[in-house]
Amino acid sequence: MLIVMKPNAAAGDIDAVIKVIEAIGFRAHAMPGATRTAIGITGNEGPVDGRRFENLPGVAEVIRVTKPYKLITLDLRPDKTVVRVGDATIGDSGLAIIAGPCAIESRDQAFAVAKAVKQSGTRFFRACVWKPRTSPYTFQGLGEKAWEIITAIREQFGLKVVTEAVDESHVDLIEKYGDVIQIGARNMQNFSLLKRAGRSKLPVLLKRGMAATLEEWLLAAEYIMAEGNYNVILCERGVRTFAQHTRNTLDLASVPAIRRISHLPVIVDPSHGTGTAYMVTPLARAGVAVGADGLMIEVHNQPELALSDSAQALTLSEYAQLIEEVRAIRDVTAPLPAMARKKASS
Ligand code: PEP
Ligand code: MN
Repeated sequence: MLIVMKPNAAAGDIDAVIKVIEAIGFRAHAMPGATRTAIGITGNEGPVDGRRFENLPGVAEVIRVTKPYKLITLDLRPDKTVVRVGDATIGDSGLAIIAGPCAIESRDQAFAVAKAVKQSGTRFFRACVWKPRTSPYTFQGLGEKAWEIITAIREQFGLKVVTEAVDESHVDLIEKYGDVIQIGARNMQNFSLLKRAGRSKLPVLLKRGMAATLEEWLLAAEYIMAEGNYNVILCERGVRTFAQHTRNTLDLASVPAIRRISHLPVIVDPSHGTGTAYMVTPLARAGVAVGADGLMIEVHNQPELALSDSAQALTLSEYAQLIEEVRAIRDVTAPLPAMARKKASS
C-alpha cells in the first residue's frame, strides 16, 4: 500500500498518517519528493484496508501495490534518488566513478592507485579489505591491517571509500572507517547481511548476483530499504551465461530496465563484467552511453603483480584515458533524455 499525499499536505498531516500506520502494527516509509510526499507501508503480510486512510487530511490517493516491491519504485518516489556521501554524490547529473584496486595489498600499492584516482577528479575509491574468493587458497584480502592504509588515504586525498562487507561483522568496521558498504554479487541474497546494511546510516552499493533476475536484485534492494536505509546504489556487474569470451555477460539492458521501474541510481562495473582489461574501456563507454549514473573500475599500479583480478585491472594510464573518454560521452548523452522528451511532446 502506498499513500500519496497532496502537494500542499502539511507536515502534521504526514505525521498523522504515519501514526495510524504504526498504530496498526506496520512500518511507515515517508519519501519526500519534489512535488509531493508518498508513504510506503511495510510489515504487512496481507492486504491493508486502504479506506481507513482515504479521509485523513492531506491524503490525495491510496494505491494498492500489485508489484512484489514497494520502496524501490517510481510510484513511491517519482524523482531519482541522489545518494550523498559527504559532498560527493551518486545519481545526480554528474558521472560518479568508483575506482581503485580489487583489494588493498600494501601501502605503496594503495597510495599509488589512490593518487591516480584523485588526479582523475574521481571522488570514490574502491578499497576491499576482505575478498570473497572462489578458492580458499587464494589471497583473501589484507584484513583489518588495511584500515590503517585506508584511513591515511581518506585523510590525504579526501576520497570516499567503498568497501565490501563479506559478513555482518564487517559492517561495524566499515561504519567506523569507511564511507560506503558494498554488498557483492555472492552475497546479494544474504538476507541477514542485507538487513544489517539496512540498519546502517551509510549508503549501500548493491551488486547484482551472478545469476539474479532483475526482480530478485530489486527485491534485495527492497530488503535494505525496508529496514529504513534508502541510500542504495545498484551495480550491474554481469551475469553468468554460456559465453566463454568474457568472465560474465554485462547486461547493459538492465540500466534502462531499472530506470523504468526504480528511482535508485544504477552504476555499471565493466571490470567484473568482462574480466579482461582490453574490454573494460569499450564496455565503460557503453555503460555511460546507456545512461548509467556511474562506473566501478578496477585499476592497479602494476596489474601484472595484482594479488586478485590481475587480468581485468587497468594500468594507471589506461585508467586516465578511460576517464577522459567516458566524460566526453557523458557530456554528449546526458542531455539526450530531456531532448527526446521535448521532441516527443512537440
Ligand atoms: C568486487 O567488486 O570486489 C567484487 C568481488 O565484485 P563482484 O561481487 O561483482 O564479483
Ligand atoms: Mn575484483
